[in-house]
Amino acid sequence: MTTLLVSQPNFADHQTPPGHPERADRIKAVDEALAAPAFDDLLRRDAPYGDLMLADLVHDRHYLQQLRDARPAEGIRQVDGDTFISGRSLDVVATGLGGALAALDAVLLGEADNAFCAIRPPGHHAEIATPMGFCLVNTIAVAAREAQRKYGADRVAIVDFDVHHGNGTQDIFKDDPSVFYASSHQMPLFPGTGHPRETGMGNIVNAALPAQSGGEAMREAYNDRILPALENFSPDLLLISAGFDAHHRDPLAQLEWVDADFAWLTGKLMDIAGRRCANRIVSLLEGGYDLKGLAGGVTHHVTTLLRG
Ligand code: ZN
Repeated sequence: MTTLLVSQPNFADHQTPPGHPERADRIKAVDEALAAPAFDDLLRRDAPYGDLMLADLVHDRHYLQQLRDARPAEGIRQVDGDTFISGRSLDVVATGLGGALAALDAVLLGEADNAFCAIRPPGHHAEIATPMGFCLVNTIAVAAREAQRKYGADRVAIVDFDVHHGNGTQDIFKDDPSVFYASSHQMPLFPGTGHPRETGMGNIVNAALPAQSGGEAMREAYNDRILPALENFSPDLLLISAGFDAHHRDPLAQLEWVDADFAWLTGKLMDIAGRRCANRIVSLLEGGYDLKGLAGGVTHHVTTLLRG
């Protein structure tokens, strides 16, 4: 496979309070892991600034201005229970979005088969009108809409293996059968949504996993529910909300996945992308809060994207 890695040069400019799990060191750890010789074959690109007005594609029309108004002149301001914004946070959101859209361009124009974007802050908890769960703009949702608007993709699938349910992504697409959203997540856990009976227009699949259930339960959930539904949806493009907080080292959750589970899951998604959408996958980093667990998960995810 030709795999593109998109890096985010200004990732450290989004500041969170000391001790906050969503911190700049996360991206440093990912960048270091992907600097290994095993990744010499990756195409590499720095994320350009994306047009933040595109947030209007998925968020309330006042949302972006509310975020702009919330920015403090200096320091950090709290915008939700555990979500913070600093003076240059929206510049970082802009390169996260620009990175995702550059990856989308590369994959949809055939320059790369698939792509991974090492970006922060995460986005999948950001709802239509509410920042939440460390997330300001729902980057993957904007990417899905851009794939439809710019490239005429009819059917876009989003698979979210972050340990938390992507309530924001579900909120945005629950009434739109042209976008499929499937999530595996620990339940009960923040944000509390993602019950299997939440099915949208039949385009939403939620696989709730109990704490300590491990890789076997994950494989069963994907084999029995998520993968057949994804295959049946037959997307033109597969987007991945790639969170690595289901890793056994992660401090925020207890799903107990090991590195090899991320490789297995990535391989299964690639199999379907190979059959249904000419391998086209764009994967965006979401959560993952233990630096070693994050680096291990990303290493296995990107190795699989690259080598199949
Ligand atoms: Zn998460």
